[in-house]
Amino acid sequence: MSGEYDTGSGAVTVERRSPEAVFGLLGDESRLRILQALGETPDEPVPFSELHRRSEVDDSGRFNYHLGKLRGTFVRRADDGYELTYAGRQVIGAMYAGIYTANATVETIPVDGACPVCGGDLAAAYAEETARVDCTECEDFYNEFAFPPGSLDQFDPEELPLAFDHWMSHVMRGVAAGFCQTCAGRMEGRLVVDEEGERLAGLPAHVAYACDRCGSIATASGGTPTMFHPAVTGFLYDHGFETGHSPTWLLGDIGLPTGDLVSEDPPRMRVRLEHDGEAVVAMVEADAGISSVERTSA
Ligand SMILES: [Zn+2]
Ligand SMILES: [Zn+2]
Repeated sequence: MSGEYDTGSGAVTVERRSPEAVFGLLGDESRLRILQALGETPDEPVPFSELHRRSEVDDSGRFNYHLGKLRGTFVRRADDGYELTYAGRQVIGAMYAGIYTANATVETIPVDGACPVCGGDLAAAYAEETARVDCTECEDFYNEFAFPPGSLDQFDPEELPLAFDHWMSHVMRGVAAGFCQTCAGRMEGRLVVDEEGERLAGLPAHVAYACDRCGSIATASGGTPTMFHPAVTGFLYDHGFETGHSPTWLLGDIGLPTGDLVSEDPPRMRVRLEHDGEAVVAMVEADAGISSVERTSA
């Protein structure tokens, strides 16, 4: 399978291979050892003899044969040796993700911070590859998202709530930019109007993203896409909140965003943040994109 299309400024050529052919290449211990050996120094090409030594495949003929099989898909030839391709690096990442148990659980950890909605206690927990950071007292602040089990033991338990929160911001930024975090496919966003009583974070609409390639979905409050706009990031920074760095729950210190529907069909929502006599107002469109942002005095 292959495809070629013209973007107007140049042809984009994509050659596609069948999953059977690609994954079939990995069903051999020597080949996995070669990939792991290359993964030890992902930033620099590994010379042939060094790669042979590291991968501990006895017979040099056999080593050469397996390396040849990986070339063009998971390994590429560089000037000074061999290196992993993008897919090769992904395989190494999947190996780490898969080596760590999918059964990891983390008992409830108290969070150093208060619910931005009601001021109640927050708690973090982890089970079935899903992290949660929720208010223990109200139902208006809850976050639930996939977190890689292989990353858990890189943090002390008391560091986990913040690590979960940073991961969530990082993933949402990628999703809002239009990339699926599972398969790197294109993700389409939608603004969805909610009934009274089913509102996320008190806003009259939420955003829903879906990847039409692998089926991954993400749902977030309608204020989320505005948080990554530079004008809003700047406003938050000026008021003491660093997007992607400050814990999400500290947004309560500035004031949670409010929203009003400008139109229901197509859905459009005006989102407003206000603090210290200043405000920033952003318009979220039907495709979850931001069409305008304005900073004003409140
Ligand atoms: Zn609460
Ligand atoms: Zn996807």
